[in-house]
Amino acid sequence: MPPTDAFHFSPIGIVHSCYQEKFGIPRQPGLVTMATAQLELLPPYNRLDTLDGLEAYSHIWLQFVFHACISEGWKAKVRPPRLGGKSKMGVFATRSTHRPNPIGLSVVKIGKIHQHDKRILIDLHGADLLDGTPILDIKPYLPYSDSLPQATSSFTPTAERSQCKPVIFTEEAKRQCDVFSASLGKDLYTLITQIIEQDPRPSYLANQIDREHGISLWDLNIKWQAKNQHFEIFEIEKMK
Ligand code: SAM
Repeated sequence: MPPTDAFHFSPIGIVHSCYQEKFGIPRQPGLVTMATAQLELLPPYNRLDTLDGLEAYSHIWLQFVFHACISEGWKAKVRPPRLGGKSKMGVFATRSTHRPNPIGLSVVKIGKIHQHDKRILIDLHGADLLDGTPILDIKPYLPYSDSLPQATSSFTPTAERSQCKPVIFTEEAKRQCDVFSASLGKDLYTLITQIIEQDPRPSYLANQIDREHGISLWDLNIKWQAKNQHFEIFEIEKMK
């Protein structure tokens, strides 16, 4: 038997993502389809031949390090946000970031593969990854065996706290959104709407109305608050 404490893995890539902090990142991939990111292969894996054949697949599995919460350690029991933060579950019964080995697993849609000099980049769609996330491995998603429509779990996404309140931009925020959408060349309006619809607030703030929140996308700070019947985006500004 190999020594069980002797594994050492180095990243094969790093993610460049719109999400600059953990707050606001969706809880799973595929929920914010407008979120774009790029996976850059790191040396010595920055060679196109490592990706030969990948164009046959629409999605990949990414194994990654929850690098931004390593210092927080792990917990045996955690409060999954999908249960409204009310009940605790064993860490291995959840997708919590606070794991003994802080490794995450996400399935994401892939787009173009680009090469610029020695940089090899894969476009990702709908990722739930923080900017700078180290990637340990890439594997193709195999629908014939990875897709399990008969699989069950005791909760459904509709049991989540978010009741999908509409997201409404103030006139001023709409105007700012148009300006930044044009300079970024992205549909910022749909991206922000998809993110806030998920209600990123921690459960202990879920009933607070009018409290101001901010999420960071690229170099922008998106300011918003929950109202009784909707979420309101009231300012979009460049971060200093
Ligand atoms: N899909 C993955 C999984 O199941 O392993 C991640 C699920 S985890 C519940 C999703 C959360 O991880 C996001 O909402 C974000 O706050 C956090 N996250 C994403 N990238 C991270 C990183 N590099 N370091 C720490 N936390 C990260």
